Amino acid sequence: MSETNRCGLCGEPMPEGEEMFKFHGYSGPCPKPPLARPAKKSYEQLERENVELLEACKALVEARDGLVSGMAERIERATELARAALAKAQGKEGM
Ligand SMILES: [Zn+2]
Repeated sequence: MSETNRCGLCGEPMPEGEEMFKFHGYSGPCPKPPLARPAKKSYEQLERENVELLEACKALVEARDGLVSGMAERIERATELARAALAKAQGKEGM
């Protein structure tokens, strides 16, 4: 008896005595609903996945840009403080 003999309709192993058949039916009709075939993705589904992927990429880039611009703002603020400190120092030296 082979373990690989399965009903071509329901995927259930064929019962003993029916291994030589492709489908249930020798002792009655196949009792199971047909095997669910992997549903093909529709064109719309593919396009939607494309959009979702691109939106995820965009969100990622925006998150990164937000991080970079946040750092840029901090550097800019620090630069302003440094310039102010420099100007103050120069003013004191100039006195
Ligand atoms: Zn079957």
